Amino acid sequence: MEKRIRGLDSAFRIPHSAFETDIAALSITALKGVGPKLKDKLARLGLDTVQDVLFHLPFRYQDRTRLRPIGGLVPGQEAVVVAQVELADIVYRGRRSLVVRVADGTGHLILRFFHFSAAQKENLTRGRTLKLFGEAREGPMGLEIVHPEYELIGEGASPKADEHLTPVYPATTGLHQLSLRKLTQKALDGYLEHIPEWLPQEILAPLKLPTLQEALAYVHRPPPGAPVQTLEAGTHPAQQRLAFEEMLAFHLSLKRLRARMQRHAAPKLDGAGKLTQALLHSLPFAPTGAQRRVIGEIARDLGQPYPMQRLVQGDVGSGKTLVAAAACLTAIESGFQAAVMAPTELLAEQHRHNFTRWLAPLGIEAALLSGKLNARSRRAALAGVREGRARLAVGTHALFQDEVEFEKLGLIVVDEQHRFGVHQRLLLREKGGRDGMLPHQLIMTATPIPRTLAQSVYADLDVSVIDELPPGRKPVDTVVLPEARRAEVVARVRAACLAGRQAYWVCPLIEESEALELQTATDTAAALSQALPELKVALVHGRLKPQQKAQIMAAFKEGGVHLLVATTVIEVGVDVPNATLMIVENAERLGLSQLHQLRGRVGRGAQQSACVLMYAAPLSEAARARLTAMRTTNDGFEIARRDLEMRGPGEVLGTRQTGERQFHIADLLRDQALLPHIERAAAVLLERYPRHVAPIVRRWLGTKESYGEV
Ligand code: ADP
Ligand code: MG
Repeated sequence: MEKRIRGLDSAFRIPHSAFETDIAALSITALKGVGPKLKDKLARLGLDTVQDVLFHLPFRYQDRTRLRPIGGLVPGQEAVVVAQVELADIVYRGRRSLVVRVADGTGHLILRFFHFSAAQKENLTRGRTLKLFGEAREGPMGLEIVHPEYELIGEGASPKADEHLTPVYPATTGLHQLSLRKLTQKALDGYLEHIPEWLPQEILAPLKLPTLQEALAYVHRPPPGAPVQTLEAGTHPAQQRLAFEEMLAFHLSLKRLRARMQRHAAPKLDGAGKLTQALLHSLPFAPTGAQRRVIGEIARDLGQPYPMQRLVQGDVGSGKTLVAAAACLTAIESGFQAAVMAPTELLAEQHRHNFTRWLAPLGIEAALLSGKLNARSRRAALAGVREGRARLAVGTHALFQDEVEFEKLGLIVVDEQHRFGVHQRLLLREKGGRDGMLPHQLIMTATPIPRTLAQSVYADLDVSVIDELPPGRKPVDTVVLPEARRAEVVARVRAACLAGRQAYWVCPLIEESEALELQTATDTAAALSQALPELKVALVHGRLKPQQKAQIMAAFKEGGVHLLVATTVIEVGVDVPNATLMIVENAERLGLSQLHQLRGRVGRGAQQSACVLMYAAPLSEAARARLTAMRTTNDGFEIARRDLEMRGPGEVLGTRQTGERQFHIADLLRDQALLPHIERAAAVLLERYPRHVAPIVRRWLGTKESYGEV
């Protein structure tokens, strides 16, 4: 367990006035020529300050640093050419266009314009010299360039090539590259040298990274001969320098959050563990070594007088619920209440069921608080929680509405955190604070992420990993089949159910419509009942009343239902060990982690289980890759790694759907080689350059930093 970080608090308390030139706060209108209209357009690109302009990086470069002879041009090449006009003519073949033939003594080239003005044509008279730029292509009359950029060269003037590669910036309608180039030039000329450097050589040198000023100058205006491919891949040291500082800023801000949390007091939940022991003894199985270890890590945290912030990562089926129960019992034994929050009604109901089964024999009452309770049960549940009869509250996010009051809340458990997003997690921390005390927090996720990434994006959390499945689990066999082989799949369901097992049949979202999804599931359930008259088929979906849902799930759990047709509501958490067959329709539409979650519903008992992923052809490249990944591995960490590779961290961590800001420049996947150095750099700064920490965080997270404000 990490100890409190000394000195961190004071490092963050630097008054604003300590900065000289704060280009992060300097409006973009400080750049000459930016009036209200341009300002609005730039705002659409997210550019509001001078710093934003400097951090708005090119995504591509053009090489205009050399003049090329026409004779040496090859199709597909972008080039600067200086040539004389031979003739200019308007032609009407197909589309009206202006066709200009130019030559430079080494060959000739056609310029083609579909949009042009009369004046334009007038100017392009025979003998005039042009400097032009564009991509040469094979045309009907030899090499041609469609819509080249060009300028007329005056009599006697000698055209020069550019001194730098030409940056191409992300743009928006009505905002041209030329404006962006001018703008960045002004920002570079006027402000670059005022940008303070906050990373000491001691950090930069070993990584062979340039200073911030060097990096920005290079990225915006690379010298001739700069490695364009490397630059366009975003892996040039100049770009890495920027990405590194951004990731470092993010990391530091999470550390600050952590430090702030640790300034808060929390109740010491240091019960002797009698209740946990009693629970473990009452179970038909022994906890795995990994479960024991994590239970221990949590217990140690709970005994501290400041709030635990611990993330438990464990693959589906690794037994996170038991670990959560043990934590709750520690809180309860110490005289406090615990709350368990689940992302869906179904899962909340199931948790209540499990927790009641485990805790009732110990004389502990659990209340369910979900959004769909009727008024009377809701009042009763609220009273139980408020008056402290209910030592445990289980629910959806309804748990954290204002009217919910706890008598004495000591611990919050958030299950399947990836469904909530970082922001909600942070908001939760405010709940239940009393007498200046905050509750401890335990976060559980089945979407494990690689360690270095976890250290960076969860730097405010301690991480425990349940890296072991309960004994006797056999990996689920996964097959991928086209929709056309449905009859075989139905036969397989029949065989499994007649052999005493049970099966799921999941119909995911077909269109972006819950109603349609429901329709499909309803139709499928009807068709399957008909095809399988000897089986009891039931349907469960999100529109059912919680009670109906609970009834169906209970019937399935008890074996009264053989085949459960479902929408993706069963994605997370549902636990019925006798179910050994998972059928997923339209699997090509689901994400990798969702598929892995669904598959995790089977393979929970000692029986060999199988998962059939049905797809509708044709398969996209990405869908094929996902299905292949599912077929070839059962390991949640490996799945997460590939998911990360395919989709990028923003989506994997659930930040995109909750609309949280992504990195500007850094890309956790592309820049992952830097991750291991972030921690060390943070340590160097905190220890030896504490005054640099706040400015770095402010530079990159600015006022948008929601993290520090909780
Ligand atoms: P998840 O980590 O996906 O939340 P669960 O907590 O739902 O997993 O556990 C999956 C199943 O494994 C449950 O039926 C649970 O009772 C069972 N289980 C948990 N721990 C063990 C264990 N140590 N030995 C055997 N079965 C276990
Ligand atoms: Mg679970």
